[in-house]
Order: sequence, then structure tokens, then C-alpha cells
Amino acid sequence: MLTLSGVSKSFELKNGSYPAVRQVSLEVKAASIHGIIGPSGAGKSTLLRLINLLERPDMGTVTVGGKELTALPERQLRRERQKIGMIFQHFNLVGNATVSRNVAIPLELAGVKRGERLKRTAEVLEFVGLADKAQQYPAQLSGGQRQRVAIARALANSPQLLLCDEPTSALDPGTTADILGVLKNINAALGVTIVIVTHELDVVRSICTEVSVMKDGGIVDSFSRGEHEFLP
Ligand code: ADP
Ligand code: ADP
Repeated sequence: MLTLSGVSKSFELKNGSYPAVRQVSLEVKAASIHGIIGPSGAGKSTLLRLINLLERPDMGTVTVGGKELTALPERQLRRERQKIGMIFQHFNLVGNATVSRNVAIPLELAGVKRGERLKRTAEVLEFVGLADKAQQYPAQLSGGQRQRVAIARALANSPQLLLCDEPTSALDPGTTADILGVLKNINAALGVTIVIVTHELDVVRSICTEVSVMKDGGIVDSFSRGEHEFLP
């Protein structure tokens, strides 16, 4: 489903260049829930952003669903990127737009016609259990509801892959469990492959089928559920 091969990324700093991700190769199986864990500064978030080319790798290739994204011209890349959803720790909703509009934004960007947009927006809001909040604004919602809106937005274009950057780190334990339930359901019911960056081991233990451990920009360990006491 997703293959990273020899991917590296350095950031230019005042006193030289800092290698945030070093020579990472990674295979994420279709329909898996793949966790990326490791200490703060290990490069997890950068690695996630390299998957949809929000960061351009300095070296290496990224292949999603059989298409090598790193080889595509900008126009085609934009189209392929629409098949990859992403959610964030702080939800990143547009504050002055309604829930419905937030969810419709990626559909507008993809050129989906109004009628189809309305239908699809209603569908994904129903899926995350927020059909009754369509006309509210993000500030009127709880953290868990905001993350559900972000999930609905990420699902709007029917992605094969959903990237999650610390999706529950701003949520209390009860709400975390709810959101993990939604992610599990997206994986099970829609067959969406999920990559999730988190520093919360409970998150990994409750939903991940595979885990990669990052340290100093590299993957230092990886295992599947049942292979290791860490992921029984
Ligand atoms: P993690 O998600 O594991 O905490 P990050 O991927 O956020 O790690 O960061 C890895 C390293 O790269 C950190 O040292 C961070 O300061 C640096 N870094 C990340 N993004 C940038 C950027 N845009 N410019 C400069 N340095 C960055
Ligand atoms: P950050 O700087 O925290 O990444 P951004 O403002 O760049 O926040 O937006 C993060 C995400 O929010 C984007 O990746 C996108 O999904 C969504 N988003 C925000 N504003 C828009 C917009 N005008 N059109 C489409 N998507 C948007």
C-alpha cells in the first residue's frame, strides 16, 4: 500500500543542516493500522509529512497505491494527494467556516460539483456521528467533536490512506477512546490503511497492527501484533 525507500530529509538551520529523517525504508501493508512511535524530536511528524509530500524528501522514493509520488509532476501529485487524508493534534479546522463547509473544502479543491459535494458531506458527517452539527462552527464543538469533523474532512475524497499526527494528544482519555473507535471503524468498515504517529503507548496498544519505532531520524525497531510483548 505504502512504501518508503531510502527517504531522507534535512532542514537548513543557521549553523548548518539538520538531518530529521535519515534513510528510512518502510513498508505499510494495505488495511493495516501502522503506529510510529519514539521520543520527541525523533522525526515522526516529519516522516508522516514525507508520505504525502507535504515535505519533499531530499533523497529516496515514496510510493502509495502503486504510484511513485516522488516521480510525479506537481499537477498529478495534487490529484494523488487528494487520495490521502490527514488529521492533526490540533484539528486544523477553519474557524470561520461551518462544520459542513470545513468538510466540503477538500471536495471543492478536487473540483467536485455542488450536488455531489452536499451528498458526500452529509454522508461523511453521518459516518462520524455529527449529522446534527453540520451548521455549527468549530468553536461551538468539544475537542472530540472537532476531531470528528477533521476526520470527516479527511474522508471526504474517499482516501485509501489516512495519516494521523498525534490525533488524540489534545484529548482526555474518554474522548481518546471514542476517536480511536472511529479510526478503528474507518479501517474495518472502509478498508482504509492508517498510519498514526503518537507518543501515547496506549493508543498503539489499543489499535495498531504494526509498529515502527523511530529514534534520531531512523527506524530502529518494528514489529507486528503478537510478535512482541509490547503489542500482544
Ligand atoms: P517528532 O515528531 O518525532 O517529535 P519532528 O519530525 O517534529 O519529530 O522533528 C524532528 C526534528 O526535525 C526536530 O529536531 C525538529 O526540530 C526538526 N524540524 C522539524 N521540522 C522542521 C522545520 N520545518 N525546520 C527545521 N527543523 C525542523
Ligand atoms: P498548519 O500550519 O497547522 O499545518 P494550515 O493552516 O496549513 O495549518 O492547515 C492545515 C490543514 O487544514 C490543511 O492541510 C488542510 O487540510 C486544512 N485547511 C486549512 N485551510 C484550508 C483551506 N483554505 N482550504 C483547504 N484546506 C484547508
